[in-house]
Order: sequence, then structure tokens, then C-alpha cells
Amino acid sequence: MTSEPRVIDCQEAARRLHELIDGELTPEVEGAVQRHLEDCAPCMAVYEFEEAFLRFVKLKAKGQTAPGDLKKRILGSLGLTSNSDNT
Ligand SMILES: [Zn+2]
Repeated sequence: MTSEPRVIDCQEAARRLHELIDGELTPEVEGAVQRHLEDCAPCMAVYEFEEAFLRFVKLKAKGQTAPGDLKKRILGSLGLTSNSDNT
């Protein structure tokens, strides 16, 4: 056994990003990924992008109560509603 902190490379960091964002990593792995991000600007940039993107998707999914109706309203306001509704 060694008390050395676990070190991961960019490939592993990239593989763990989604798990990190979803909070699915063990504390040990999470710490290793976060240490890598602090030392590695390219990976940090990817992480920040992924994190913002996933947050945006989740927010959007939550707010989408009536997407069909909203679409109709937008199309209607643009004068693009068609009478042939083939859904
Ligand atoms: Zn990296």
C-alpha cells in the first residue's frame, strides 16, 4: 500500500468527466480527476464545456412542458403554420 495520491492521464480524465459531473465516482477517483483538471488546462476546458452543456440540457428538459404547443406558437407568430398537420 502506498499513500501516494492516484494520478491519471488525460485519456482517463476524459473518460471520467461524465461520471464526475453526475457524481458517480468514488471519492478517491473523483479527487484524482479533480487534481488532473487543476493541472491540465485542456482537460479543464473540456470539463467546463461538458458541465455547462449538461446543465443546459437538464434545464431545458425541465422547462419543456409543452414543446409541441410552443413550437406551434412560435411558428404561428412567424406566420408559418401549415394546415396540413401530419403528425
Ligand atoms: Zn489532461
